[in-house]
Amino acid sequence: MSVIVRFAPSPTGRLHVGNIRTAILNWLFARKSGGEFWLRLDDTDLERSTPEFADGIRQDLNWLGLEWTREDCQSGGTAHYTAAADLLRERGRLYACYETEGELDRKRKRQLARRMPPIYDRSGLRLTEDERAKLESEGRRPHWRFRLDNSETETETAPLPTIVSWNDLVRGDQTVDVGSVSDPVVIRANGTFLYTFTSVVDDAEFGTTHIIRGEDHITNTGVQIQLFEALGKEPPAIAHHSLLIGADGRALSKRLGALSSIERLRAGGLEPIVVASYTALIGTSDPIEAHPNLDGLASLFAFNKISMAPARFDVDELKALNARFLHKLPYATVEAQLRALGADGGPAFWEAVRGNLSVLNDAATWCQVISGHIDPLIENKELTDSAAALLPPEPWDDTTWGTWIGALKTASGIKGRALFHPLRLALTGLEDGPELKVLLPLMGRAKVQERLLGGAS
Ligand code: GLU
Repeated sequence: MSVIVRFAPSPTGRLHVGNIRTAILNWLFARKSGGEFWLRLDDTDLERSTPEFADGIRQDLNWLGLEWTREDCQSGGTAHYTAAADLLRERGRLYACYETEGELDRKRKRQLARRMPPIYDRSGLRLTEDERAKLESEGRRPHWRFRLDNSETETETAPLPTIVSWNDLVRGDQTVDVGSVSDPVVIRANGTFLYTFTSVVDDAEFGTTHIIRGEDHITNTGVQIQLFEALGKEPPAIAHHSLLIGADGRALSKRLGALSSIERLRAGGLEPIVVASYTALIGTSDPIEAHPNLDGLASLFAFNKISMAPARFDVDELKALNARFLHKLPYATVEAQLRALGADGGPAFWEAVRGNLSVLNDAATWCQVISGHIDPLIENKELTDSAAALLPPEPWDDTTWGTWIGALKTASGIKGRALFHPLRLALTGLEDGPELKVLLPLMGRAKVQERLLGGAS
């Protein structure tokens, strides 16, 4: 059976690294096993889902190179959800409830006050036809709950401890006691369906072979396995990966979550393959390094490499990985991107500056320093004037620096930082940067001389 996995975000916001980790693990597994990766937009929350967020999700996946071969959205699936709900109703597994949110809230508070778990008391299950008719005549619309299989008989309302188990591809044998959770609402009073249900109907209908998602869904899995069974379907294989924590070891804060949106990382100039490599490898037993392409990452994928411990997301580590990746890139790989940035100074330029880049956009700064306009900083005018006077004639090459500095040391009696720092400030206007030795021939004599003399050039 060919592998089918799906990434199922809700289009209620932009994707952040946590979502992307789920997407990428699904994508890599599909790629490695020659299967398919599908995008499913879980837009059952019609108020919070927007077409703009859906577009944002597509853009983010495209940017990362995570192509999908099929796309569905749950707001388009009403007919098969209705059919599945009818089947559950026929099988006595859906029942109508009439409580308002406020009434449910009061029930929960009473239970908590009595130190009881706030589980729905199944009042709906005990309603007679007459009672239902009366409630409806008062204008109440029912919402529908799925009756979990956790009591001795179908009409018994008190749940018993009931273990649902599965062999999780990441976590090994897992159990959930569905005797300790409420029967989930699957249809709202306005007739719309809820995720717990729609997800199962879609997975069953579309033949999802593996569900790979975060461990925040473990309890859902217990409930959803019962839903699959009630629909007469075999549940897919299931893998729950751990969630992300921040560099401080705490759950990812809202602020860090926003900072780690793919949109922000992209705008910050990070390379998509570095973001993909980082999110694919954190929380696994493989070393975190940037791979040249997604296929390289896919060949590494294995469920047993994914750790059960939380995966640590550190934006500084990601940025450092990006820098290390750029430092090794050959010119041919970045030529087109440099041209698009207006920073294509040729192979020698790239060799000179790549070791100083954090993100590729930084190349534009160095292009400006080498061929554009800067304001030189003159720290020791006597020294830089003398340096200007001692500049060798062109042509310049990588021996020019040695010749020039030798002459300047002898003439000025200055060496070390006192010599190099004023030269760097005059030539680049900056404290740090690529070796002056390699910058010199790229800048050319006229520019170097003008800057040493303090002229804006
Ligand atoms: N829409 C759900 C979420 O974003 C999907 C979970 C699942 O993969 O089933 O958490």
